[in-house]
Amino acid sequence: MTEKQNKSGKSDFDAIIVGAGFAGMYMLHRLRGLGLSVRVIEAGEGVGGTWYWNRYPGARCDIESLEYQYGFSDEIQRDWTWTERYAAQPEILRYQNYVADRLDLRRDISFSTRVIAAQHDAASGLWTVETDQGGTYETRFFIMATGCLSAARVPDFKGINDFEGEWYHTGGWPHEGVDFTGKRVAVIGTGSSGIQSIPLIAEQASQLTVFQRTANFTLPAGNRPLTPEEIAETKARLLEQRQHARQTPGGIICFEYNEKLAEEMTPEEREKELRTRWMQGGFAFLGAYGDLTATHEANAYAADFARDQMRCAVESPQLAEKLLPNDHPVGVKRLCLDTNYLETFNLPHVELVDVREAPIEKITAKGVLSGGREYEVDAIVFATGFDAMTGAILSVDIRGRHGISLREKWVAGPRTYLGLGSAGFPNLFFITGPGSPSVLSNMIVSIEQHVDWIADCLAKLTSGNIRSIEATQEAEDSWVAHVNEVAAETLYPQANSWYMGANIPGKPQVFMPYPGGVGVYGQKLDEVAASDYEGFRLDA
Ligand SMILES: Cc1cc2nc3c(=O)[nH]c(=O)nc-3n(C[C@H](O)[C@H](O)[C@H](O)COP(=O)(O)OP(=O)(O)OC[C@H]3O[C@@H](n4cnc5c(N)ncnc54)[C@H](O)[C@@H]3O)c2cc1C
Repeated sequence: MTEKQNKSGKSDFDAIIVGAGFAGMYMLHRLRGLGLSVRVIEAGEGVGGTWYWNRYPGARCDIESLEYQYGFSDEIQRDWTWTERYAAQPEILRYQNYVADRLDLRRDISFSTRVIAAQHDAASGLWTVETDQGGTYETRFFIMATGCLSAARVPDFKGINDFEGEWYHTGGWPHEGVDFTGKRVAVIGTGSSGIQSIPLIAEQASQLTVFQRTANFTLPAGNRPLTPEEIAETKARLLEQRQHARQTPGGIICFEYNEKLAEEMTPEEREKELRTRWMQGGFAFLGAYGDLTATHEANAYAADFARDQMRCAVESPQLAEKLLPNDHPVGVKRLCLDTNYLETFNLPHVELVDVREAPIEKITAKGVLSGGREYEVDAIVFATGFDAMTGAILSVDIRGRHGISLREKWVAGPRTYLGLGSAGFPNLFFITGPGSPSVLSNMIVSIEQHVDWIADCLAKLTSGNIRSIEATQEAEDSWVAHVNEVAAETLYPQANSWYMGANIPGKPQVFMPYPGGVGVYGQKLDEVAASDYEGFRLDA
């Protein structure tokens, strides 16, 4: 491809997509199908996004593999066979590479290239997109498929540059892997990535010290090989199942939500429902009754049950209490699924440091200074998560109509219409952006929902000679208000979670995803499309 500066008013591409994870790959496929010229720009050296970067030990999906796959192609799903209930990272990445080969995607992707800025020009109606390789491209449509969990966050600890050992972030793990055999290791962070990696790091390390700020709810994943019958059943019905998944709150069908409210059940019924779902593993637990994440009373039954189960896994009662979450309702932070996480703390060489009692003061040349004690280690693993939902979008300096900056516009929190677009930014689309169900759902279902909507929209625009589409200010304001109202009816805003931006110092604390459910949200998307894009301004 030639990189050129185009001042003629004719764009280099009809569409530029940033990111080659599940979202960018499918978006490319759909837009090619419309006959548009498309370029994908990806910072990594290969496709896969999340599964390209997160190669830490134990990384695997927490939505069951049979549902955590594309549902747009019957051929692809029939020809690919998952091996485990929850696929591990290498298998998911192999699948993504298989899809990329099968659809011949790579020829339209620029790898090892990061988009750093994009500026809309009102006169030409084009976006000028700049990369860190010095390239500048002009495009009519600019699509951010940059991922909700792709901006890895390393905390700003004092002294980190003085550390003489090696340190890693789970979200940027070395491709060749890391051998911790015989090493003293510190893991900082006990969210999903920490909980998945700690048991495996403990198998190799001579000494493992886990620094925990927040104890999280975790339940056994119940991972196991898939049976031939399960695989055959899904292959026969995946597309139909996916249709069904799109109508559900979470985009998954491996369990049914119980619509009864907690108070409509006897204590025995509640206990039975919670126990059955806990044993089932996965997110079924959160569907035990309809108001589990809506009221404190209802939530408390499930939270108490979860704590009781968790307590049983830890031999030392004092240690168990430290590992039990007591400061937030269950299900309002991402529920973690584990394999032997709590049991790992029964091992003699594994130690827990509660940084609420003993805050990390700094990283020293030899290790971690916490609560006045220096923990000497050979390696530090930061399992400290991501600047979620907005981090990757705002890492690009995006300027819309009249030079308005997206960073400035979102300074008090993200503002979108439907999570898809933002007023002042014509022809800019976000896939699973803030204000859409995104991280509260099976993300592949949400990704397909958005990609299909955007592709259908671009088909209409291009066939109708419509130059641009842009969310109106009124539609955006009322959608933001609606998202806040729906969130306020739940317990979600009551936890210091990354859904709220609480893990990033200085980040505005607003609830970012739309908690109304994938099904309800999908109906809204359909209505908007059917009404010739009500809430958007179309310019010929
Ligand atoms: C460890 C882990 C486990 C997860 N498990 C699940 C699960 O079980 N179920 C589920 O539904 N979701 C899960 N998720 C969420 C996961 O992110 C999504 O399911 C999905 O993979 C997102 O795909 P995506 O294409 O939207 O984004 P990503 O996969 O994050 O891809 C975005 C890509 O954009 C690139 N990019 C970003 N900014 C730029 C830029 N400026 N220039 C160039 N390239 C850029 C990145 O390099 C990245 O490759 C998990 C996330 C993590 C981190």
